Amino acid sequence: MPKRLRRCKECGEYTLRTDKCPHCGGELEVPHPHRFSPEDPYGEYRRRMKRRVWEKKFGSPAGGSSE
Ligand SMILES: [Zn+2]
Repeated sequence: MPKRLRRCKECGEYTLRTDKCPHCGGELEVPHPHRFSPEDPYGEYRRRMKRRVWEKKFGSPAGGSSE
């Protein structure tokens, strides 16, 4: 994958151009690299929610012995 890839704000197409989108002439932006998969942008959030539900159900997973 090329490093200087830009993404059109209008149509979402990727391009190597830096001035404007070759497809629709729209404005370009530099897509910021994400640590998580772009296909699962809410993975982190979902994992946190899952843990919250878990804690609600079974108490804290770390030393939650209340006997
Ligand atoms: Zn475009």
